[in-house]
Amino acid sequence: MAGKPLKKIQCDSIARHSGLRCRAKGYLKKSGFYRCRFHGGMANGATTLEGKIKAYKNLLPFKNKTDEEIKKWILNKTKSSGV
Ligand SMILES: [Zn+2]
Repeated sequence: MAGKPLKKIQCDSIARHSGLRCRAKGYLKKSGFYRCRFHGGMANGATTLEGKIKAYKNLLPFKNKTDEEIKKWILNKTKSSGV
């Protein structure tokens, strides 16, 4: 489809330089806001356990920890937040 669609849900972000709302198409996020692909609309973060371990390894508090320790920490975290 060429051009801009007539009906689309706008991204809720506000540009710092102009103070206007972002005009790109938004996707509904868990937080309840619509965010476009530039403002974090498409990214869901790491989903698999291996990916999460890889991501946590880059953080300073987990730098010297083994995979098992990080795995245990992630599983404990998800358990407590789920309740
Ligand atoms: Zn946006």
